[in-house]
Amino acid sequence: MLALESLEVAYPGGIKALRPTTLTFREGEFAVLLGPSGAGKSTLLRCLNGLVRPTNGRVSAPGVGDIAASRATLRRHRAVTGMVFQHHHLIGRLTALANVLMGRLGHQSTLRSLWPPSRSDQRFGLEALERVDLLDRALTRVDLLSGGQQQRVGIARAVAQRPRLILADEPVASLDPATATRVLDLLRSICRTDGISAVVSLHQVDLARHFADRVVGVRGGEVVFDGPPARLCDGV
Ligand code: ADP
Ligand code: ADP
Repeated sequence: MLALESLEVAYPGGIKALRPTTLTFREGEFAVLLGPSGAGKSTLLRCLNGLVRPTNGRVSAPGVGDIAASRATLRRHRAVTGMVFQHHHLIGRLTALANVLMGRLGHQSTLRSLWPPSRSDQRFGLEALERVDLLDRALTRVDLLSGGQQQRVGIARAVAQRPRLILADEPVASLDPATATRVLDLLRSICRTDGISAVVSLHQVDLARHFADRVVGVRGGEVVFDGPPARLCDGV
């Protein structure tokens, strides 16, 4: 699904956020990047959708090749990649439905020019919200929703894009444990049902153990573990 070859990132100032890393994320896999704050998880995820340009090495996607080769390759890769962020990057003063439709229609400016949405777009957005159990909040402003609900809108937005891959950067870091479990459960079950591959960063070992098909442990910009969660011991 994604091949990382000798991927390396040094930020200005000389911080080596990612040491040369070679690994492959497989089709249909729910992979968890596990590591403490500052380990390089976010940098790695950002390389996977071209938000960070590697200092060396490359990321290849099927049918695209090196995703950073040109604007066209980046666009093709992003068209099939949904992003979920810790602080969800939703537009608070818009409704849940409008935020989800942005996943389908692209940017806010596109959304404005296409508003009100067509019936088929509306149906599509409502279906996505139903899948995260938020149909009854479709017309609620996002800034009036709870943290867990907002993150579920973020997932619905990513899913509405019909991605082949979802990249989620600490999607549950600001949620309480029960809500975090519920959100990850929803995310994983949607990925399974739709055959979406996922790379999700987390810092909690227990959540990684519970949800991951595969754990990639990162520390100090290096992969220090790569395997099934059953092989994780405490302290990784
Ligand atoms: P994580 O997501 O695991 O918390 P990050 O990828 O955010 O880790 O950070 C890895 C390292 O790179 C840290 O030392 C961090 O301070 C540094 N870093 C992250 N982003 C930048 C940046 N834009 N400029 C300089 N240093 C950065
Ligand atoms: P989640 O578990 O997804 O975080 P909850 O189900 O715990 O959300 O939310 C409990 C109830 O409290 C929900 O019906 C939600 O609408 C309401 N609620 C939570 N936060 C807010 C808020 N900031 N403003 C309005 N209602 C809220």
